[in-house]
Amino acid sequence: MTILITGGAGYIGSHCCVAFLEAGHDVVVIDNLSNAHPECIERIAEITGKKVAFEEVDIRDQAAVERVLRKHQCSAVIHFAGLKAVGESTKDPLAYYDNNVVGTHRLLSAMSNCGVRQMIFSSSATVYGEPQFLPITEKHPLNAVNPYGRTKLIIEDMLRDIATSNPAWKFSILRYFNPVGAHKSGMIGEDPLGIPNNLMPFIAQVAAGRREQLSVFGNDYDTRDGTGVRDYIHVVDLVAGHLRAYEALASRETPSNCFVVNLGTGAGYSVLEMVSAFERASNKQIPCVTAPRRNGDVAEIYADISTALEVFDWKAENDLDAMCRDTWNWVCKNPRGYEGR
Ligand code: NAD
Ligand code: UDP
Repeated sequence: MTILITGGAGYIGSHCCVAFLEAGHDVVVIDNLSNAHPECIERIAEITGKKVAFEEVDIRDQAAVERVLRKHQCSAVIHFAGLKAVGESTKDPLAYYDNNVVGTHRLLSAMSNCGVRQMIFSSSATVYGEPQFLPITEKHPLNAVNPYGRTKLIIEDMLRDIATSNPAWKFSILRYFNPVGAHKSGMIGEDPLGIPNNLMPFIAQVAAGRREQLSVFGNDYDTRDGTGVRDYIHVVDLVAGHLRAYEALASRETPSNCFVVNLGTGAGYSVLEMVSAFERASNKQIPCVTAPRRNGDVAEIYADISTALEVFDWKAENDLDAMCRDTWNWVCKNPRGYEGR
């Protein structure tokens, strides 16, 4: 049986392909390449020594998705495809509702027509909004505060409704905290187009000399050093969590047919701690300047990881030094990302 990986040429999806191929699963990737390079598919094949089936398909093209599901006799879907930039979502919400919500609706309709009823969905800690308590459990109230987060919440609700309507459907909703790092080979990694929005790729570009300095967005938060605290998780650990989610779905050892799990490490690091760790890993200085707070940022957020441990018997293994070391290895080996980007 083959697993369909949507957005499998992207940052997290490509690492997921490697993990599933190495675990002996057959995968087929669909991606519209809106934020990916086809070279990534070649690299996945090189790392794993396995051929990767790739179809350049948009998830909004329901007929094309159905064709792929049938052609490859897919039994489950891991759904990464989507737009993910918070700032961009506030400027162009229609694009986000179309790509993420309409896209997922079409994908689910295609699955329904083909009798494929298992999905692992990439949600985000952003659905929690401003933390009301820490660490954040899956029962924390949901309050997305931007269009990107709202698309994730709408999709989660859609999955809950479908699961209630028919117990044959099985969903695992994974709420990621902050994925960073890269495969240890340095052959695949995060390759943002233009100026990175996220902290880790920005720091990496400063270390590599591509950008002059890091702007630290706010140093007067109520945190141990005044800068924002997040729960960073190595992308290789994150995708190992998907493998466990898949095994749990397949073996029915899940609490219900639609369950939610946080994927984080449970530890929070500040912006300045991230900078120091990256300086250690890269042996480079990261010049920093203090800048105003970024709109919509929370002071501190990190995960309660007990559900992942209970349901998946899984927890992250890589520490912050490994996250920085593997990011730096990827950046050094691919200073301009994938060829031609
Ligand atoms: P990414 O942009 O690297 O990967 C997404 C992939 O989906 C890209 O390859 C893109 O080309 C593809 N895609 C986008 N729209 C598509 C469409 N309509 N049809 C087909 N393919 C399409 O992003 P990522 O960081 O790998 O994130 C993967 C998923 O995880 C996303 O759903 C994102 O919202 C979620 N997530 C990411 C983070 C993070 O910090 N990276 C955090 C929480 C959740
Ligand atoms: N951040 C920063 N400078 C940057 C990018 C991010 O100071 O150029 C801070 C940001 O304010 C937050 C933390 O780094 O406190 C993580 O930001 P990121 O965008 O990576 O993740 P998110 O805020 O979405 O959790």
